[in-house]
Amino acid sequence: MVGGEAGERRGKQHRSVRSARTRRWPIACGSAPHLSAHLAAYTARVPETLLPDPTLLDRPGEACGVFGIFAPDAETARLTYFGLFALQHRGQESAGIAVSDRETLTVFKDLGLVAQVFDETTLSALHGDIAIGHTRYSTTGSSVWENSQPVYRQIDANGIALAHNGNLTNTGELAERLGKLFATTDSELMTEAIAQAMGMHNLTLPNALMKTLPAFRGAFTLAIMDRDTLVGVRDPHGFRPLCLGRHEHGWVIASETAALDILGAEFIREVEPGEMVVIDATGVRSMRPFSTPEPNLCLFEFVYFARPDSTLYGHNIHAARRRMGEQLADQAPAVADVVVPVPESGIPAAQGYAAASGIPFRDGLVKNRYVGRTFIQPAQSMRDRGIRMKLNAMPGELRDRRVVLVDDSIVRGSTTRQLVTMVREAGATEVHLRISSPPYRWPCFYGMDTGDRSTLLAADRSVDEIAEFLEVDSLAYLELDRLLDATSVPAAGFCTACLSGRYPTDVPVTGDKFLLERS
Ligand code: SF4
Repeated sequence: MVGGEAGERRGKQHRSVRSARTRRWPIACGSAPHLSAHLAAYTARVPETLLPDPTLLDRPGEACGVFGIFAPDAETARLTYFGLFALQHRGQESAGIAVSDRETLTVFKDLGLVAQVFDETTLSALHGDIAIGHTRYSTTGSSVWENSQPVYRQIDANGIALAHNGNLTNTGELAERLGKLFATTDSELMTEAIAQAMGMHNLTLPNALMKTLPAFRGAFTLAIMDRDTLVGVRDPHGFRPLCLGRHEHGWVIASETAALDILGAEFIREVEPGEMVVIDATGVRSMRPFSTPEPNLCLFEFVYFARPDSTLYGHNIHAARRRMGEQLADQAPAVADVVVPVPESGIPAAQGYAAASGIPFRDGLVKNRYVGRTFIQPAQSMRDRGIRMKLNAMPGELRDRRVVLVDDSIVRGSTTRQLVTMVREAGATEVHLRISSPPYRWPCFYGMDTGDRSTLLAADRSVDEIAEFLEVDSLAYLELDRLLDATSVPAAGFCTACLSGRYPTDVPVTGDKFLLERS
């Protein structure tokens, strides 16, 4: 049977409901009645301080991280914890793990970072051969507990759990078709569709996926499980990455190869766009639910999202970012004394720019790595300090110098403007800004939270107008062709929609992430 345990999440008073067989606490998923109880219990929003602070970010919100493991005789929940730890950069709003011991499927999830959600006691209560995990950045729905993942649905004596990275583009249509207008995320709708196919047609999980996946549009990389099977899916465009690895006790799927490395798992291959890998007691098999795969990996995975130690399309991300800097130096040289990165994402491109130009590389800015996710509300006077909460200048490296300041992208621009002011106040005589990607002019509908077009600095401004707004002495963005060349696989198939306006799919008129919550 599938467990139906419920209890309040950690950090509130413990209230647990014993199942017939075993006690789990503070388990956050179960049968529908228990789930309803939870939805009533968790109406609180994420503390504002847990959300990406627009004064501290000038990038699209990260994607989510998904992970899955099929490994009999291994501590799968613990291994999933470490896999999620390696994927923390892809989402910091909530974390969750689902685990199956072949009889009970249990989900534990909560708001917060992986290390805040799980501890030794929690993990030691999660047993099983199969597990999936998720780190969330909200691109559909609010940052509330009930939108955290994995999503769970009970189907008769079975149950499924689903972890999703990406954004559907036909969410409204799907909600109407399923009669589930109360759903608050596209991930919940997908889970519902799969559960309905399993329940109504008595299908196995893989067969239910073959039936339902073709109806989903947009970006969806999934890790899904029931009591006996782990499945990894990439949509036919492969917007978000997923790789397959071999662990000493079984098989692993993960958003990025860095999550395999942390477990000592061997990278086998990337799951292909439009592919579904099914892992069960018989081994691994590949299925193809979509008729026409058309690879369009998000180019921003190379620019910013993916970890530098991960590989995509067979190429190391850090090396690609260095090449972007080299290309930038060739395309837009500057007469300057030092090259300074905006830490940390601008570092490899700045290294490449310095190497190609011969201008010395200097750490002129230092990042406070922890302040962006504090649980303590900063005083208003501190919030007014904006970027200084996150970065500080090193006058010794900047004073009386002409500075090439290198970053990977600009989305809204307000942070970058503060940064330029800070560099000048530290004594720089000139600031020449170089960006290792083209102007970000169009909103993303595939799982990056950029806000609507009106918030994008480059939406309706020329490069000269942007330079004037940012108060820099010169500004250059890397050309798209050069960026693609820097990946080393320019013809592999990329989405460039936010940079080029060429969307590989139909997109909704509105990119409202709260669409379902408003309906
Ligand atoms: S629109 Fe931009 S951020 Fe979104 S998937 Fe395409 S390349 Fe990535």
